[in-house]
Amino acid sequence: MSTQTVENGRHRVVVIGSGFGGLFGTKHLKRADVDVTLISKTSTHLFQPLLYQVATGILSVGEIAPATRLVLRKQKNAQVLLGEVTDIDLTAKTVTSRLLDQDTVTAFDSLIVATGAQQSYFGNDRFATYAPGMKTIDDALELRGRILGAFEQAELATTQEERDRLLTFVVVGAGPTGVELAGQIAELSDRTLEGTFHNIDPRDARVVLIEGAGAVLGPMGPNLGGKAERRLEKMGVEIQLNAMVIDVDAFGVTVKDSDGTIRRIESACKVWSAGVQASPLGKMIADQSDGTEVDRAGRVVVEPDLTVKGHPNVFVVGDLMSVPNVPGQAQGAIQGATYAARQIKAGLAGHPPQERKPFKYFNKGSMATISRFSAVCQVGKLEFGGFIAWLAWLALHLYYLVGYRSRIVTVIQWFVTFLGRSRGQMAATEQWVFARLALEAISNGDDEDAEQLAAALGGSTNSRVAVDKAHTDAKAG
Ligand SMILES: Cc1cc2nc3c(=O)[nH]c(=O)nc-3n(C[C@H](O)[C@H](O)[C@H](O)COP(=O)(O)OP(=O)(O)OC[C@H]3O[C@@H](n4cnc5c(N)ncnc54)[C@H](O)[C@@H]3O)c2cc1C
Repeated sequence: MSTQTVENGRHRVVVIGSGFGGLFGTKHLKRADVDVTLISKTSTHLFQPLLYQVATGILSVGEIAPATRLVLRKQKNAQVLLGEVTDIDLTAKTVTSRLLDQDTVTAFDSLIVATGAQQSYFGNDRFATYAPGMKTIDDALELRGRILGAFEQAELATTQEERDRLLTFVVVGAGPTGVELAGQIAELSDRTLEGTFHNIDPRDARVVLIEGAGAVLGPMGPNLGGKAERRLEKMGVEIQLNAMVIDVDAFGVTVKDSDGTIRRIESACKVWSAGVQASPLGKMIADQSDGTEVDRAGRVVVEPDLTVKGHPNVFVVGDLMSVPNVPGQAQGAIQGATYAARQIKAGLAGHPPQERKPFKYFNKGSMATISRFSAVCQVGKLEFGGFIAWLAWLALHLYYLVGYRSRIVTVIQWFVTFLGRSRGQMAATEQWVFARLALEAISNGDDEDAEQLAAALGGSTNSRVAVDKAHTDAKAG
């Protein structure tokens, strides 16, 4: 165990998470008379809104995930620590983080917790084995491997039934992520891969978007949802509304329609983008507070100043906070973190917590891209779609991407992809597809699921042997 010590007696701020909340909170404290320690289990600042472009071969990881310590290089009052926070003690005012087998305890005077949310399978966590979510770099690379791998296997398939299964892609959840993914898989098969195989025509790929509710992009309203739906259908995406996915296995999904009909879709490649569950640190903090609760998704029902009851210097921001009318979006995280940093600075200037004005969210709008040259956009009461919305989407995403280098390379990649037919990031390795399963097999001591999936995806004997070997080694060791 190591202990972080600060000898200069300055106010110590610990920030947990290097996403939008963590990074913007830290940056906002740049000129404050404080020492900031940013602790995150990932070494990068991940721009999640473009993960689907990594999954579909448009962007590389580097463009959307710069190293946090490089981003903060010039911020002399900030230290970056890699490690997963395993404990927060609000009484002792310490945060314990773990990197491999080393625990580190960091003391704080003020704390900003921005650990976001993970994919939720609504109690069916076993679905994750067959239908990864879209939350991390690993998710995106695994998915890229699965999508491209399915086409490769289809080329070698010996029966039409097998070919159809391999060329059926199921996306669960028609929120922005599901819509963007479905649109990009359709474009990948229709434009990028078209004419590159001998035994199959990638344009035969079937992309199915399944949504439990009655509309695509429900929160954006019927007008924009309808626009997105029509555009996707024009691209050949099959949209199934009021349909609940009730089971997922290696070979496909089982769906229940609103009239009670239960049916099967055979599919090798499934993606889950249907729900979120807040980081468990939210509940850990709430349990130590004077009565703050978490909502059903595990988000902390914070006070008007984004703190927890009885701890005016413990702020919870971003996807981990529950504040009425603040959506789980980048803007909410940025504004919440900036607000928290401001309150810390005000405290140092002698303003007690009682003087704080409540956090006020300024809704700058929301948008979702559907395909090249087509997006939907909502700003206040203004709603528009098509090319103009796509240009607005392009400009906004470039603006929020961190670092000039990332922006320049991204523009080049977009130019190549959207004006031409090619994509610059089509590499995929077998390990991307199977590493998660091998690791899970080791930790669960059960390689059956991994085996089944490897077989269903047609993983080579090598990968199955690797899973077996890892498992045997783990048992032996
Ligand atoms: C695929 C996808 C597409 C999206 N598209 C959009 C969009 O178009 N527009 C939009 O506004 N929003 C979009 N969002 C939502 C947006 O990305 C989130 O609202 C935003 O990232 C929330 O920021 P955050 O800082 O709260 O959490 P995150 O950005 O999720 O960051 C959480 C951080 O905490 C770290 N962490 C987690 N647990 C621990 C732990 N125990 N110890 C240490 N560190 C930990 C993680 O490594 C990460 O660095 C999208 C999200 C996804 C997943």
